[in-house]
Amino acid sequence: MRLFLFDIDGTLLIARGAGRAAFRQALERTYGTAGALDVYDLRGKTDPRIVWDVLTAAGVPGEAIEARLGDCFEAYVRELETILGDGHVVELMPGIRELVGALSARPDAVVGLLTGNIEAGARLKLRPTGLLPHFRVGAYGSDHVDRRRLPPIARERAARLVGRDIDGARVTIIGDTPHDVDCARACGAVAVAVATGQYPPDELAACAPDLLFRDFSDVAYALAALTSCAGRRHTEPDSGHPPMGPVPRPTVE
Ligand SMILES: [Mg+2]
Repeated sequence: MRLFLFDIDGTLLIARGAGRAAFRQALERTYGTAGALDVYDLRGKTDPRIVWDVLTAAGVPGEAIEARLGDCFEAYVRELETILGDGHVVELMPGIRELVGALSARPDAVVGLLTGNIEAGARLKLRPTGLLPHFRVGAYGSDHVDRRRLPPIARERAARLVGRDIDGARVTIIGDTPHDVDCARACGAVAVAVATGQYPPDELAACAPDLLFRDFSDVAYALAALTSCAGRRHTEPDSGHPPMGPVPRPTVE
């Protein structure tokens, strides 16, 4: 059994600033300031990490942040629901619908989410895409502030779902930032980077993912590469297909 865990923003879809706008409203309403949120680098960060970083930098004491974190996320979810329900377009990345559908149809695979979004936010962003039923497990920013702590949570939930443990090397983590690659490395998972977010291919290649894609528009190729690379990294570290086209091949140690 293999476990494929997808990041959301920049990997499955882009929500075109809906998250940042919802955070701005929630932070201002709850704490009276959104600090320097407008210039904060959200990429690859968990939602609680964003709140802590922005408010700490704005001088809000830790106890005050902690005390109202629940209120802040309630406000965030309300704002996000309003923004997304208002005709705000969530755009799926190329090939994602077909790739996720094909992976989740495999009897030897479980497809899930590994995202910095809190669970309610993840559901809101994915709801308009119709893809939610494919993601049978997930680990979210609402589970832990540190992204590196999320893979064991997803694995445990997947193990409960299928009734047996899934070895770390049979887990594949797919994301658009160096944080996703780091998170995969931290748990011995296969690291797959895709340059559909804001990181260009060369910056992702510098993190040495096992596989690097410009995007998943060639679904058959992506499916073959993902399913053949999974679970073999430790014994055949060079087994990943070289990326196509001008995308530099990642260095695999
Ligand atoms: Mg992302």
